[in-house]
Amino acid sequence: MISLSHYIDGRAAAANVENWLDVFEPATGSVFARCPAGSASDVDAAVAAARRAFPAWSGLPASERARWLQRLADALESRLELFAKAESRDAGKPLALAKIIEIPRAVSNLRFFASAAMQFASESHQGEAGLNLTLRQPIGVVGCISPWNLPLYLFTWKIAPALAAGNCVVAKPSEVTPLTAWMLGELAIEIGFPPGVLNIVQGFGAEAGRALVEHPGVKAVSFTGSTTVGRGIATHCAGALKKSSLELGGKNPTLIFADAPREALYEFILRSSFQNSGQICLCGSRILIERRFYDEFRDQFVARVRQLRVGDPLDAATVVGPVVSKGHFEKVMGYLDLARAEGGRVLCGGNSVQPPGRGEHGWYIAPTVIEGLGPQTRTNTEEIFGPVVTLQPFDDEEDALALANASSYGLAASVWTSDLRRAHRLAAGLDVGIVWINTWLERDLRTPFGGMKQSGLGREGGLEAMRFFTEAKNVCINLG
Ligand code: NAD
Repeated sequence: MISLSHYIDGRAAAANVENWLDVFEPATGSVFARCPAGSASDVDAAVAAARRAFPAWSGLPASERARWLQRLADALESRLELFAKAESRDAGKPLALAKIIEIPRAVSNLRFFASAAMQFASESHQGEAGLNLTLRQPIGVVGCISPWNLPLYLFTWKIAPALAAGNCVVAKPSEVTPLTAWMLGELAIEIGFPPGVLNIVQGFGAEAGRALVEHPGVKAVSFTGSTTVGRGIATHCAGALKKSSLELGGKNPTLIFADAPREALYEFILRSSFQNSGQICLCGSRILIERRFYDEFRDQFVARVRQLRVGDPLDAATVVGPVVSKGHFEKVMGYLDLARAEGGRVLCGGNSVQPPGRGEHGWYIAPTVIEGLGPQTRTNTEEIFGPVVTLQPFDDEEDALALANASSYGLAASVWTSDLRRAHRLAAGLDVGIVWINTWLERDLRTPFGGMKQSGLGREGGLEAMRFFTEAKNVCINLG
């Protein structure tokens, strides 16, 4: 049994032994670690440490802050294998996914924002009233709250820009997947990261997370998670006049036209549907297909979905691992019942799976494709966040756009067509923050990242993140 700890003021903080939470391995359904369930007093200690560290950290030259982020990236990269195994164990994701995509991306996040610290510049305005220059100064102590689906990837996506911009951070990873954030804290101790600059408080959202959001010493909150929790955080931050950035849920459409380039089409749609068991906010869970291509696409796609190997995430042959927790397993299985009750036809999957051996008590669900449900059904409007997609036919571009936009969410979309003009028209018309044309999940970290409608407020990535984590101050000089 592994015992995790908080990372506060440069040290592993011993937890109050009364307050542990169990950490489960989704592949087996059994507990493998215990994690401190942080309280308001842990958050207090972390915020106090961050406040003490702020003058020195914010006063460092950007190049020094960049060097610290690079050192952390180096340390993480040198343990890539170890972190990938831990992430796979904690979140149930196939080891290859953690090793090839997620942990390398966490390293890239740290490196990218290390270089952003050096490149970040501000505007000056002249010719209308004096000479104006804009200072972009760190805010102070900021809170970063991340979810379980891409644990270290999203954790570093938040802390890196916050630190690069000169803030001190109190971060709270998901209580469902606390392992790699704890390991990152251990790395920070090992490399002598300046105490108090980064603090990690583990624990439940309703307790530690809430205490962090509501702490008067925390000046801004960057949150990624569900729309319901995000709304509550936005409400608090509005009342306290704190900055908040919210990356929330999605119900993303995948628009496939009959002229879609066939090269790698099915491989892409399999990934956009089922990567990480469909537990990526950017997964396309509503697949919309031009009617004259519908039958062919459905038959080809379903045949391939049936071949996807569901199994132990540590097995190299596994493509789809378990979902993250028992609670989430039950939620997704509930949606499969709902889809049937709403009249959906399950074309494949629709059931739980018990891989033999150590997987017998894990939380596995067969990749599921459902057709026959209209755009207003709950199955097609609520976020399921599992290995479940629906198929809907459309007649023409206008119809496709209407179906795609028939959602209270607006995070991402992918469009598959050979017609460039159509692709541009749709990109402009889709009510989402991210559009992919003939691709999915290709990411340039300099681009704005985030959603519209119920998918969030604000944007992360590149300059957007650096701006969120700073206050703009205009200085006007009288030119006489
Ligand atoms: P969640 O909202 O339950 O939890 C997210 C984080 O918030 C966790 O660390 C949790 O402990 C914390 N939290 C919970 N209640 C809180 C409260 N009252 N105050 C402060 N913090 C609180 O979400 P989840 O189930 O961990 O993650 C899945 C959700 O995240 C999905 O809806 C998914 O779409 C979304 N997501 C969005 C993006 C994006 O970029 N838009 C990326 C990944 C995941």
